[in-house]
Amino acid sequence: MRSEDLACFQRKCDFCGTLTVLSPGGDGVVMDVRSADGPGSTVIVSHRECLATQLHPHSLEPPRVRLVGRKQ
Ligand SMILES: [Zn+2]
Repeated sequence: MRSEDLACFQRKCDFCGTLTVLSPGGDGVVMDVRSADGPGSTVIVSHRECLATQLHPHSLEPPRVRLVGRKQ
């Protein structure tokens, strides 16, 4: 891994398939997926906007998705 990789850590968005930046100030977020049925988890990587726009129109979460981790 190169120092440039840490300065700009990118992964493919699980919604649109293009790169999203997960480093501070980037446009990406991660979601932990878990179940009450038992152990194990996975992670979904997404652009903030891809996640926010995929949620149901009546969901209250899009504004929160856009603000997670950012100073208000
Ligand atoms: Zn995306």
